[in-house]
Amino acid sequence: MLIYTDNAATTRVSKTALDAMLPYLTEQYGNPSSLYGFARKVSEDVEWARETVAGCLGANYAREILFTSCGSESDNQALNSCAQLGARQGKKHLISTKFEHHAVLHTLRKLEKEGFEVTLLDVHDDGVVRIEDLAAAIREDTCCVSVMFANNEIGTIQPIAEIGALCREKGVVFHTDAVQAAGHLPIDVEKMNIDMLSLSGHKFHAPKGVGALYVRKGIPLMSFIEGGAQERGKRAGTENVAGIMALAAALKESCDHMEADAVKVTAMRDRLIAGLTQIPHSRMNGNMEHHVPGTVNLCFEGVSGEELLLLLDREGICASSGSACASGSLDPSHVLLALGIPRELAYGSLRLSVGEYNTMDEVDHILAVVPKVVATLRAQSPIWKKLEAGERPHLC
Ligand SMILES: *Cc1c(COP(=O)(O)O)cnc(C)c1O
Repeated sequence: MLIYTDNAATTRVSKTALDAMLPYLTEQYGNPSSLYGFARKVSEDVEWARETVAGCLGANYAREILFTSCGSESDNQALNSCAQLGARQGKKHLISTKFEHHAVLHTLRKLEKEGFEVTLLDVHDDGVVRIEDLAAAIREDTCCVSVMFANNEIGTIQPIAEIGALCREKGVVFHTDAVQAAGHLPIDVEKMNIDMLSLSGHKFHAPKGVGALYVRKGIPLMSFIEGGAQERGKRAGTENVAGIMALAAALKESCDHMEADAVKVTAMRDRLIAGLTQIPHSRMNGNMEHHVPGTVNLCFEGVSGEELLLLLDREGICASSGSACASGSLDPSHVLLALGIPRELAYGSLRLSVGEYNTMDEVDHILAVVPKVVATLRAQSPIWKKLEAGERPHLC
């Protein structure tokens, strides 16, 4: 039995997405930039995809959507472009948060080395950024605010509409990494005053290797891949037509079924939380109110998250200790540390992210396996022995 509960890392390609892409891998192989009818049809289909994505995001114009190769590329282009254009106006200060994805954090670190100033806002222990903290951080020379829509490790949703309103009032460009939100949460770039938004197909059942960047009309965008005039000259390279068609079809399907899927997926998540927090000295990270439907993150004291994953893998359960991008490093998750969770506790983290393809039976299986595995690991743990002997205080 294989139970896949790592949907925040990537998702299975849906039948809808596969069906949408197949014609462009077989008969419809024309290059959208070519002028003959055979290829023009493909170009028109890409424009349908652009309109569809714009529609799902509440964007006014299809031309505000740029197709990229992934969420990371979208984040990189948004921040680099915003910074370079800000610098031209003497604005070299950017604001973001401590718990962003590394596609944002590493880009900001690079910009810092290039002479930009970056303020990273603290995240409160509920996994939510406070608007007052942002208001206090905005300066005359702030060119860009980037706050993720929903966090990829703990699933918490940020006050995006409030942040958008504040940035609009202050005349600062607002970018959001909505990779965990697109297809899972309602997004309206107009109502929420979002200026730039990143998303990635493989987080909502399109294939890997295709993403999009929304850029509000009137906001200049710099190109970082030079070459042909594709994507209005903002991103050279022959379009990944099959991927783009799949992304649009998958996003539309996710948005059409959003409410029903959210009810189903939230029920599974809540059952996981109710069951797993009964394990002694465990805690759920984040909060119960503002979260994406499927993601739950827990810490178990006296347990190594890495070892926990290995034992779960032996039981056929695919999970994560944080984000897939951070695994492989032995440092505890920067997200959990940003929440103020002590290092010792952050080492014992587990992220389960369920999706529409999971079932309650799988949830029940996880609820049967995890407590056993935690008990096994604790029985072998020197730290746990100290905790039980009262030589160290319990942290949760
Ligand atoms: C997965 C993810 C990314 C990166 O997207 P890719 O398409 O894998 O490059 C960026 N931000 C968040 C929040 C993510 O979850």
